[in-house]
Amino acid sequence: MCRNRLVAYQKNKIKGFKMRKDIHPKVVDCSVTCACGNEFMIRSDNEKMSIDICNECHPFFTGSEKIVDAAGRVEKFKNKYKLG
Ligand SMILES: [Zn+2]
Repeated sequence: MCRNRLVAYQKNKIKGFKMRKDIHPKVVDCSVTCACGNEFMIRSDNEKMSIDICNECHPFFTGSEKIVDAAGRVEKFKNKYKLG
């Protein structure tokens, strides 16, 4: 528990605060469908989710990402630290 929440909790405790019942959403298995066709399961309060992009089709993960580098900064960085 972070400090702010702990302080708030202790203040409430002093006032005789009681936790509210039945306000927490029910957690269920959720099937996520991506626009690329990939499907996977997560835990959520929804049973179904459809997303536009996932780790199977996002350029960052597929490696087709291109860095726009007109000033050659990436090259300079790589030379400086002797990377690839
Ligand atoms: Zn996808």
